[in-house]
Amino acid sequence: NFRCRSGFKLIEIDDKFRLLHAGDNVVDCGAAPGAWSQVAVQRVNSAGTDPDLLRGTVIGIDLQHIASLDGANFLSCHDVTAPSTHKKLQNLLPNGQADVILSDMAPNASGFREMDHEKLITMCLSLLELSEAILKPGGSLLCKYWDGIYAQRLQEKLSSVFGSVRPLKPNASRKDSSERYFLAVSADLQKNAGSI
Ligand code: SAM
Repeated sequence: NFRCRSGFKLIEIDDKFRLLHAGDNVVDCGAAPGAWSQVAVQRVNSAGTDPDLLRGTVIGIDLQHIASLDGANFLSCHDVTAPSTHKKLQNLLPNGQADVILSDMAPNASGFREMDHEKLITMCLSLLELSEAILKPGGSLLCKYWDGIYAQRLQEKLSSVFGSVRPLKPNASRKDSSERYFLAVSADLQKNAGSI
């Protein structure tokens, strides 16, 4: 039972690309109400449900309040793009490093499609700074964007940092929405990658 249906998008992506592994340390950006964190907790075993597997960490961040969840540590009322949040994450993560950064962040939609697109692209670009601060070498990033004129620029920026970047449109994402995801992974993760 997920807190919202977006959980199925992450399940679909993770089933195909095997992004999350038991023992991984994950940062979930724009985590409220918490469905992605629920999926991440299961997949990295951060609640210790399977005692035979490594136990990971899930840290969720949102501008809004996030109701507590077993196996997750939430920074409610925090801005992902703020350097002070990056500091807090460094202190909370084991060795200050994350294996995976997830972002389903979105601004409040103004209804002006191009403006909303540009705003979300800017938020995604700020994830590169976050990656520099906390992501392990070889770590991966999954981020939501709204398609539009700056999407290619974002893809190029991500490509310059990560080995490969692919745009995804999960089946669980409504066909008529411009919602897409970029999956930026290191070279060895690519080998197992299927396609959506
Ligand atoms: N993945 C979530 C889930 O499965 O429950 C849903 C995320 S919702 C689509 C987008 C979230 O991004 C909102 O809760 C919003 O408050 C958050 N958000 C937008 N800008 C943010 C920022 N700068 N820092 C942190 N969270 C932000």
